[in-house]
Amino acid sequence: LATLGVMGGGQLGRMFVHAAQALGYQTAVLDPDATSPAGRVSDYHVATAYDDEQGLAQLMQRCEAITTEFENVPAGALATLAAQRPVAPGPQAVAVAQDRIAEKAHFAACARAGGVGPAPHAAIVSPADLAAVPDALLPGILKTARLGYDGKGQVRVADRAALAAAWEQLGRVPCVLEQRLALRDELSVIVARGADGAQVHFPVQRNLHRDGILAVTEVVPGGVSPVLAEQAIAATGAIAAQLRYVGVLCVEFFVVDDGSAEGTLVVNEMAPRPHNSGHYTIDACDVSQFELQVRTLAGLPLPTPRQHSPAIMLNLLGDLWWRDGQPVTPDWAGVLALPGTHLHLYGKHDARPGRKMGHLTITAATAEAAQQTARAAAERLGIAPWR
Ligand code: ATP
Ligand code: MG
Ligand code: MG
Repeated sequence: LATLGVMGGGQLGRMFVHAAQALGYQTAVLDPDATSPAGRVSDYHVATAYDDEQGLAQLMQRCEAITTEFENVPAGALATLAAQRPVAPGPQAVAVAQDRIAEKAHFAACARAGGVGPAPHAAIVSPADLAAVPDALLPGILKTARLGYDGKGQVRVADRAALAAAWEQLGRVPCVLEQRLALRDELSVIVARGADGAQVHFPVQRNLHRDGILAVTEVVPGGVSPVLAEQAIAATGAIAAQLRYVGVLCVEFFVVDDGSAEGTLVVNEMAPRPHNSGHYTIDACDVSQFELQVRTLAGLPLPTPRQHSPAIMLNLLGDLWWRDGQPVTPDWAGVLALPGTHLHLYGKHDARPGRKMGHLTITAATAEAAQQTARAAAERLGIAPWR
């Protein structure tokens, strides 16, 4: 029995483990938390720091091939693994995704070859960079180059004084200042690319964020303009191919309101792994993003995924476990009484506000039915309406 390894024990690792086990693999998870969501369902759990030499040695001893479920695995750890085992995605691709400055440079290079470009931006690593920021980037958003997620490590800045204060507040670490854009929509595309260069993709996802955190993903007929969808898919394919990427990659896009009929695409960021906006693929597609992660890692064929049902995914954040400062249990029975609801809870015990505790996917025969059920489910759970 072959064993597949994953760096990171969060919910993405957990869903990878489920997909790997369904295909007959054993799994090993490396995560410092001995009770991590993935570690608890995995055949093996190495509970050391990500860069612990003995932990990495143990993982390699167990595993034929290794993937990652979060982008902040230390680059040195991935390099150590890659020297002795197939690692997908590879350390170089993960390094680009770990650093917004390198990531935006990669997007810009792909755009020069005829793709979709990043938002107007400037790298800020020194006081001189700060002083040289063009006025056109303000009002903007200052983002740390590394380690940000769910809108953490970002400050909205209206003018130069606010920008200087924000850079101090973020600890003068390397940052990117992005022009604040008028967003009409947010989209994402997930591709899987094999070691032989073969690529397949899922349909374009439409995402709604609240407070910088993904709240809702909708993938229904007519949800995204075909022209923008085609551009986003082509751009994602180029971004993956030019990195010689192996594995599952998600690219996030903005649709900017610029007065044109459909708006214009801008590429935001990428995740070198399955993505929250692709969780609907478990219940609404004939192959999920996690199964494709397993297949790319194991060198198995990559058939084109087919979405068989319109789908809407609602993220279940820790806030749902609290009302008026008191802990409550969300009305799962009420939600599961609705047709086409698929509940996924990650087995996390500490329901902090803003923490991703689970998600609910609603599938239906039509877009209208999915929307109607999703609204009913949101109401039963106390999730704010989104349209
Ligand atoms: P993730 O959890 O997706 O990795 P993140 O912390 O890396 O998030 P971003 O994706 O850069 O953050 O931004 C989070 C959200 O903030 C975006 O989805 C979008 O709603 C908003 N946002 C980010 N950049 C801009 C911008 N330049 N103009 C307008 N809105 C923006
Ligand atoms: Mg991000
Ligand atoms: Mg994002």
